[in-house]
Amino acid sequence: MEGTEETGLFDAHCHPPVSAAGAALAAARRAGVRAVALWGTEPGDWIRPDPGAVPAGLVVRQGFGLHPWKLSGPLPAGWRERLEEELRNDPALGVGETGLDFRPGMAERALQLEVLRVHWGLARKHDRPLSLHAVRAHGALLPLMCEWGAVRAQVHGFEGSPELARALCREGFFLSMGRGLLRPTRPDSFARALLAAVPRGRAMFETDSDGPAGLRAVVEGIASRSGIPFGELADDGARSARAFLGF
Ligand SMILES: [Zn+2]
Repeated sequence: MEGTEETGLFDAHCHPPVSAAGAALAAARRAGVRAVALWGTEPGDWIRPDPGAVPAGLVVRQGFGLHPWKLSGPLPAGWRERLEEELRNDPALGVGETGLDFRPGMAERALQLEVLRVHWGLARKHDRPLSLHAVRAHGALLPLMCEWGAVRAQVHGFEGSPELARALCREGFFLSMGRGLLRPTRPDSFARALLAAVPRGRAMFETDSDGPAGLRAVVEGIASRSGIPFGELADDGARSARAFLGF
């Protein structure tokens, strides 16, 4: 599956329940999805799908991380060591989902930043892609490429302004977009302006759900709203996702 001509639908951020992922992956393949990136959010879901459950013609990439929503209690014992061991054992493994969520009621910012910094350091040390959740925290991400060093990082679920998209891409971030662009309250001009602001090779698409088969509907929706042909959008998204994931 290596090579540059392999394009098409790529779900760059999803969470099918990995222990029973076969049905979700088979449905995705039937829907024309060619590749998926699955991101674990706590040590309990750092699991690999049974190789027999991966349909022919579907590339599956994974990452393991500690999500900011999982930081309310004590941190899982030995998580950093286990994550690094997983990275050493699997050269294709990514880092994440991790990130920052600065809404009220979330874990303290200092703790979130400390946990993110561990992930960031591992992604740099092992040269792996890093998947980032960011809510009300994009401003805090912006300086990190300079302060902590450049990594291949995906800001997932992005639905911010074109200006913010430009600023993040200037710093070197990839942006992964999904249903947030399709909210009924959003005018079509939002998707159009946002896609126009993101340089080619930086925009990718995601379901952020347990059903990567839904990626077709996401990309169709964004295509119809942005006026960019479906095939072009799907291929550009897949190319960006492959550059981000490094294959
Ligand atoms: Zn997610």
